[in-house]
Amino acid sequence: MNIEQAVALHERLQGVSDSSRLDAELLLCHVLQRPRSYLFTWSDREVSEPDQRAYEQLLTRRLKGEPVAHLIGSQAFWTLDLEVTADTLIPRPETETLVEVALDKLANGPYRVADLGTGTGAIALALASERLGWQVVGCDRVDAAVVLAERNRQRLEIRNADFVQGSWFEPLVGRFDMIVSNPPYIDPQDPHLQQGDVRFEPLSALIADKQGMADIEKIASDAREYLNRGGWLLFEHGYDQGQRVRALLEQLGYDDVATIQDLGDRDRVTLGCWVRG
Ligand code: GLN
Repeated sequence: MNIEQAVALHERLQGVSDSSRLDAELLLCHVLQRPRSYLFTWSDREVSEPDQRAYEQLLTRRLKGEPVAHLIGSQAFWTLDLEVTADTLIPRPETETLVEVALDKLANGPYRVADLGTGTGAIALALASERLGWQVVGCDRVDAAVVLAERNRQRLEIRNADFVQGSWFEPLVGRFDMIVSNPPYIDPQDPHLQQGDVRFEPLSALIADKQGMADIEKIASDAREYLNRGGWLLFEHGYDQGQRVRALLEQLGYDDVATIQDLGDRDRVTLGCWVRG
């Protein structure tokens, strides 16, 4: 079997994945320990028997639903390649919208930024890598997440970020110029939780009471004690929560409240400015 024939086996995945070709390519790259460009340059090269077996085992696990990121232990996010484990949410492309909006709001001053519920450290590390003048702290209630985020930081050699353990604001001291979070926001009853990759992710990173609003409400309320005057609060949220998050921020006294759409044109990020300091 050559590389082209191996990639063609992606057809087996069509029932479980809407990105079957990409999935198969990433699994094959992982086995071959080569970048994706190698697959196109060397498409007629033979895949060794042991590599074929390893690849087919991964395809079978993918067919049973395991996320590609868990099978290969990594996920691309922003410009970074992040280590991923089953302890945290797998970084998603929608979350890059949050990174873009955050970068747009503050220049490269000496700013303090906090990322609540950092998981793999994706948002914190993307922000720190783009803004060397910012000092970014990521926190997570889950010890294993803090350890993973710190491992990602060290491997990526990002010096202006650090990670601390604790629930939301608990481990933080002082005030911040920006607070960002991709908190759990899915309604515990949402049937979406029974399908696809989310079944393999920790529920604690996905679901929140009050139709998914409980953690957003807590963070937005407490953030007022942790933002500098003129500081920004940014949330990722569900495509149908924009209106509720805007109403919440306005009611709590934030200004310049707005919602931004993701690449799929769905409401995804809502932000507000704390000017009452
Ligand atoms: N966007 C993710 C999903 O729908 C959920 C992320 C989250 O709850 N923070 O699967």
